[in-house]
Amino acid sequence: MSPHVLPKLLYGYDALEPHIDARTMEVHYGKHHQGYVTNLNNALDQVPRLQTAPLEVLLADLASVPEKVRTAVRNNGGGHYNHSFFWRIMGPGKGGRPQGPVAEAITDEFQTYENFQEKFAGTAMARFGSGWAWLSLTREGRLAVHSTANQDSPVMEGLKPILGLDVWEHAYYLKYQNRRADYVQAFWNVVDWEAVNENLVTARR
Ligand code: MN
Repeated sequence: MSPHVLPKLLYGYDALEPHIDARTMEVHYGKHHQGYVTNLNNALDQVPRLQTAPLEVLLADLASVPEKVRTAVRNNGGGHYNHSFFWRIMGPGKGGRPQGPVAEAITDEFQTYENFQEKFAGTAMARFGSGWAWLSLTREGRLAVHSTANQDSPVMEGLKPILGLDVWEHAYYLKYQNRRADYVQAFWNVVDWEAVNENLVTARR
């Protein structure tokens, strides 16, 4: 049984050019993300009762996942969840300054959009090795910039992701090689702030 599937990408591999190149998108989505989905399904074959559980529920309570598959669910379930989220907060012809509720929440928490950008980019740069930078909603209803290692997801920490950036080398190495800072700066050109606003509104419910 393969309950988890690769979500449809809502734009072409070349849609985020020149900021994120087509070859990276093709490998990242078609190989890396597909690999997390396949490996998650393989792990859950060993625990059939978990096959119908929503992924978010599994990740939010990893302690309840049997130890024999816990690491596989953490890494591959986290990878599937994070990448599904990541594709949806980007799009062609996006970028620019946020509007609406997320703009207000950013100003409330970080004073200015530029302060937020600086903090987010700094967090993305400070992640040693593989991981993610996030803007998440805390249990107290505030915005927080933070980072997770590997494929750990904010939902594992009781946080609700609003915006996220993959800083694994596989996300940028073909185009940017070791220049992670350039990739992080380029990311702002593809952020779909409408999708981010929807994430915030949903997270606040
Ligand atoms: Mn990735």
